[in-house]
Amino acid sequence: MPTPTVVQVVVDKPLAQGFDYLWDQQNLGQEPMIGQVVEIPFGRSSLIGVVIKVSGHSDFDINKLKQVKAVAPLPPLDSAALRLMNFASQYYIHGLGETIVPTIPQMWKKPEDWEKIPKKLIAAEKKKEKKDREIKSEGLIAESQLNNEQESALNALRNIAVEKKFRAILLQGQTGSGKTAVFLNWLSSILQDEKAQVLILVPEINLTPQLERRVRAYFPNKNMAVLHSAIPENQRGVAWYEAMTGKAQIILGTRLAALTPMPNLKAIVVDEEHDPSYKQQDGIRYSARDLAIWRAHDVKAPILLSSATPSLETWMAAKAGRYEYIRLDQRAQGASLPNVHLINTRDPQNQFSPGDVGRPEGKSPISKHLFHAISKNLENKKQSLVLINRRGYAPVLSCNACTWMSKCQQCSSYMVMHKAGALSRKSVLSCHHCGLVKPIPEHCPDCGNADLRALGQGTQKIEDSIEELWPKARVLRIDTDSSKKSKGAEELFQEIHAGNVDLVVGTQMIAKGHDYQNIGLVAVLDADSRLFSQDFRAPERLFAQLVQVAGRAGRSGTEGQAGGDIFIETQYPEAAVFQYLLRHDVDGFLSYTANERDEAKLPPFSYQGLVHAEGKSLEKAIQYLGALKGRLRSKNLIGHGLKVYDPVPKAVMRVAGTERAQLVIESGNRKQLQEILELIDQDLRSHSQGRISKGENIRWLIERDPISI
Ligand code: ADP
Ligand code: ZN
Ligand code: ZN
Repeated sequence: MPTPTVVQVVVDKPLAQGFDYLWDQQNLGQEPMIGQVVEIPFGRSSLIGVVIKVSGHSDFDINKLKQVKAVAPLPPLDSAALRLMNFASQYYIHGLGETIVPTIPQMWKKPEDWEKIPKKLIAAEKKKEKKDREIKSEGLIAESQLNNEQESALNALRNIAVEKKFRAILLQGQTGSGKTAVFLNWLSSILQDEKAQVLILVPEINLTPQLERRVRAYFPNKNMAVLHSAIPENQRGVAWYEAMTGKAQIILGTRLAALTPMPNLKAIVVDEEHDPSYKQQDGIRYSARDLAIWRAHDVKAPILLSSATPSLETWMAAKAGRYEYIRLDQRAQGASLPNVHLINTRDPQNQFSPGDVGRPEGKSPISKHLFHAISKNLENKKQSLVLINRRGYAPVLSCNACTWMSKCQQCSSYMVMHKAGALSRKSVLSCHHCGLVKPIPEHCPDCGNADLRALGQGTQKIEDSIEELWPKARVLRIDTDSSKKSKGAEELFQEIHAGNVDLVVGTQMIAKGHDYQNIGLVAVLDADSRLFSQDFRAPERLFAQLVQVAGRAGRSGTEGQAGGDIFIETQYPEAAVFQYLLRHDVDGFLSYTANERDEAKLPPFSYQGLVHAEGKSLEKAIQYLGALKGRLRSKNLIGHGLKVYDPVPKAVMRVAGTERAQLVIESGNRKQLQEILELIDQDLRSHSQGRISKGENIRWLIERDPISI
């Protein structure tokens, strides 16, 4: 009897190992290959898995092994993709199967449809071609149009990024300095190789349409695949298929695109590389930027990290010469950077006083100073952007007679008031953590008082105030609530581009990357709320966001023309974040932040891991982590450069009835951290079912390089 073929298959379960199955070549009609997507019987049902090993041997009784049921009509995942998955799985302490399988689009995980797929593909590709032809192309700045600075940047890039060599390059340049124009011209030389594939990562879905049109303008004849979570299932399935078969040369997408197989990958661009959206915050908590760097290294390709406000990690690597460093210091269209104005809201002179012209009824969230500036900007026929990082009407509803506040019954947070028409027909309270929605009570649930007050402000309340202050202005609100309605975010942005609005109120959605041409003024209303956060990265984020949003102002202009204004309302104008912003001193701010982190031995001067624990009781979750710490101590693992903090409740302690705690682990040595996290994984697994501890029923998860603590 010939030796049977055994394949090892991994599935999407929190398991460390794969499972052996028999491969019946006659029945399956093909040879087994590593990377194949297969259907296997599993327990009483069946699952999708990926073949990671082929052999003639099993440690288990061959006669008891089950057979692979079917093979997906796909080429196997290529070896580079599998190396990437293996690395991600090891580095992020996550099972290989639960790392790979979720990256395969749903369309390819339905065995019942596999027979129909070839037909479906033909139809889908036709549809895609038609759609591609419909994409407008715009924003082409050909190589001959680049300014001197851009041209030298492009030349530097071409010199550094030689074929078949890994290089990480930081392209740091002011907002509007023409970074995109530089990297698209660079990619164009790489794409002269017919087969070459390039990956362009963007932090947010909302930024893809604009870049898609620009890429289209540069590469009208290339096949582009766009990948992000809002793309319909089949469309995404086709885009992924075209990437993994090498049919698409340009892959443009959000973080999930970083894990897409691309057999001929020749270059990667990570746009806005500092953006926290590159970090996945559930499942395998990877950083798409970091994986992209590893991937470029693995396939010996250059990777360009682009930003106006690089992350401290990247900036330090460039400063130290580990990354190449290219800079653009002028704005491409000639205008100078916006003037920064700090409005001290504690100063009575900046506020309305009784009798002032134009004074709104009640307390105004917009200071008098800002009121005059916006009025002037309106007179000049320029648009204004007003940023407030909170959607809804007011962050909390409270009773005027007793201490009642709109606490969520399931979470340790307040329910946000949304005005009528925003989330539902009537005004409601909504929890932004668990999604619970409730009608607004007519009377205080505790004392029956009818006088309930909306405390603080969100986008909707500011929209109301603005309409009151400038009754004739055309006002548009952009936040995740408004963009979910009939018009998508893209259409709302088009309204701004088309000049159909005078004043835009929005959350950080409006701050990033958009190339608006007629914004004269940007106002930031709630910067202080992020000044004193327990998260040590909060100032870095705030700074990046302020630079980004300031960068929306005055992008077009003639040589030397003022680049618009940004007004920041704050009670603490002396804070470092604002002072560096005032001088447009990105490097100064980063260097200041680097010193602070160095002194406190915080990342990037150390490496961190996090153990999350969730359960029905906070006490038990804390105890669970405390016991873990105790075991580490008794094995003499703490010290020697390894620091384990005490377990603490998370910033939002309870979400949807689940209590949440965390344990921070820190080391100055990457390898030491890796080893201890692997040890913790084994330790916790040894009395768990998957990632749920037996007995206490605590759900745990290990996170590497957390970005919010
Ligand atoms: P960044 O990526 O640095 O924000 P972009 O590449 O988006 O900058 O360029 C900002 C704006 O300047 C865009 O409207 C772009 O079309 C324009 N632009 C870029 N380079 C040039 C150039 N050499 N000449 C004229 N306009 C340019
Ligand atoms: Zn009350
Ligand atoms: Zn809630």
